[in-house]
Amino acid sequence: MSDPFFTPVSGFDLPRFAGVPTFMRLPHVDFDHPRFNEVQIGLIGAPWDGGTTNRPGPRHGPRQLRDMSTMIRAQNGATGIRPFEVANCADLGDVAPNPADVMDSLQRMQRFYERVHTAGIRPLTGGGDHLCTLPILRALAKDAPLGMVHFDSHTDLYHSYFDGTMFTHGTPFRRAVEEGLLDPARVVMIGIRGTAYDNEDRDFAQNVGIRVIPIEEFHTRGVADVMEEARGIVGTGDTYVSYDIDFVDPAFAPGTGTPEIGGPNSFQAIEVVRALQGVKIVGADLVEVSPPFDASGATAYLGASIMFELLCMMVQ
Ligand code: MN
Ligand code: MN
Repeated sequence: MSDPFFTPVSGFDLPRFAGVPTFMRLPHVDFDHPRFNEVQIGLIGAPWDGGTTNRPGPRHGPRQLRDMSTMIRAQNGATGIRPFEVANCADLGDVAPNPADVMDSLQRMQRFYERVHTAGIRPLTGGGDHLCTLPILRALAKDAPLGMVHFDSHTDLYHSYFDGTMFTHGTPFRRAVEEGLLDPARVVMIGIRGTAYDNEDRDFAQNVGIRVIPIEEFHTRGVADVMEEARGIVGTGDTYVSYDIDFVDPAFAPGTGTPEIGGPNSFQAIEVVRALQGVKIVGADLVEVSPPFDASGATAYLGASIMFELLCMMVQ
């Protein structure tokens, strides 16, 4: 049972549109807070898009995700799970990146997540572009490589961009495999689609044994069948869940830098998370929400809702 301190502010005590927005109206507990070591799941903002190669903006994601997350109530509508009563959850604030220096930002983020990991806190991150996941994995996979369920339009497995640039949001999982942070046999990438530069990423996946499930196969087989296979691939070992909002069709999630047509709808977007029942999730993220392209705020609201569904799986 969670301590009442870690309970979100109820909309009956203060209307949900009022107050200082934290993730899901949780208390803000930073490293210096006296109750930091009691946190079990830490919601973290990663306001950084230094790996973006096309349309920018995810550096503004955490603030917008926090604002839209105040819409969320305490109980899951489908499963009845009340995550805040199962685990001590708190908003740990934002990582402080260096917006003018990619390598410095990667180090700053890794150090932040090492402190979180050392304290025994499992991180649930709101991005930020997808390069943010690399320093998180560097902190979490220190002892042994992790499995990963990856929802995305893109594999993010390319070797490099612009003739040798190794750190972009199209390359994080290539680096993660090279660095031994991921066990390729326990990695599944779901929803892959769109035009491509070439087959270099898919060839790499095949060579190292990463399972790629293209969107055509996803739509033909359906959520339940695909996710049963995904659970089998990651098995019972430690697993990271990385969710790029561009997995979802741009009709439902237009506010992202690299949209691809023909994706899942917003209901399937949360169904795939609910199908992670039984997976041992050591951390998760929701990345690539770009508020400048999200005129209605719908993308950020969907992103915050996916974070809530991820949280409900993390407390199981
Ligand atoms: Mn991605
Ligand atoms: Mn993507």
